[in-house]
Amino acid sequence: MPRKLLGLVMVCLIVASIPALVVSVLESEPLSPPVQIKTSDLMVRVLNVKSGKVETLPLDDYLVGVVAAEMPAVFEPSALAAQAIAARTYTLKRIRQGKSSHPGADLCSDPAHCQAWKGNDELWREWGVLHYAGYHRKIAEAVESTRGLVVTYQGELIDPVYHSTCGGATENSEDVWVYKVPYLRGVACGYCGGAPHYQDEVTVSWDDLYKKLGLSPAVPVASGAGKSKNSGPATIQAFAHSPTGRIKTLVVGQKRFAGTEIRSRLGLASTRFRWQLNSDGVTFYTQGYGHGVGMCQYGAQGLARAGKTPAEILQYYYQGVEIQRMGS
Ligand SMILES: [Zn+2]
Ligand SMILES: [Zn+2]
Repeated sequence: MPRKLLGLVMVCLIVASIPALVVSVLESEPLSPPVQIKTSDLMVRVLNVKSGKVETLPLDDYLVGVVAAEMPAVFEPSALAAQAIAARTYTLKRIRQGKSSHPGADLCSDPAHCQAWKGNDELWREWGVLHYAGYHRKIAEAVESTRGLVVTYQGELIDPVYHSTCGGATENSEDVWVYKVPYLRGVACGYCGGAPHYQDEVTVSWDDLYKKLGLSPAVPVASGAGKSKNSGPATIQAFAHSPTGRIKTLVVGQKRFAGTEIRSRLGLASTRFRWQLNSDGVTFYTQGYGHGVGMCQYGAQGLARAGKTPAEILQYYYQGVEIQRMGS
């Protein structure tokens, strides 16, 4: 049988076994030995969105490229291992669902759509000759040391969402998206304070603010020399905060916006922000980077530095979950 076809058959066989496997692991403990399934033999077909090519590679090799793309290689081994378990969970969940929107591939390398992934050529260019071997080995060890481990909630693989920096507390899923997920609860995080984007500020001109929010400048000010007629102050008020202090609803002029919409339209780093009105525009002071739900990656690094294990890191950010071995 050609190698590719053999790989495909193996994928089908293993994927078909996964739901039964999780159930049997849960039902059989602690009397029976762990169910063995060679997750490391599972082949993943990843669409490289930069080259347009589909690459087929073993799960663990794929996970090395995901962890390398999602987290700085200089992070602590425990943080990298937590990321590896999260990435394995996401990958197996997606393959198990079998609803790929990519013809001939299980996932793509676009982090906005599936999960970030970088091939070895790209990592070589990024890390250079000085760091490639060391970084690659370090991340491969994070993947290998967690072989077969996944995160489950009540026996089901979780959606292990994560973000760069929460800025002080993570967020309930329903305060960012519409659905409430029991394990995606906001938790205090005092571990990401050293992150590069823990605090940022950006000034948006009045003209830009009106344009990006689709508002008409209802209150033009007397224009001085060199000033646009459209410049002018709008009132900005926080209408509602989330329980962890992020902006949930903001009123600009007469119009109401979700905090997440303001973040995306104005390109803010986070919905945890305050602002100051100036004659030239509005300065936003943000705290954190990303949507804020699930694992805070810089927080994971902080917890790893404090001596926490990968399981402790994951169970901190995903409430009530278990770390289970799906085989090796
Ligand atoms: Zn995709
Ligand atoms: Zn954090």
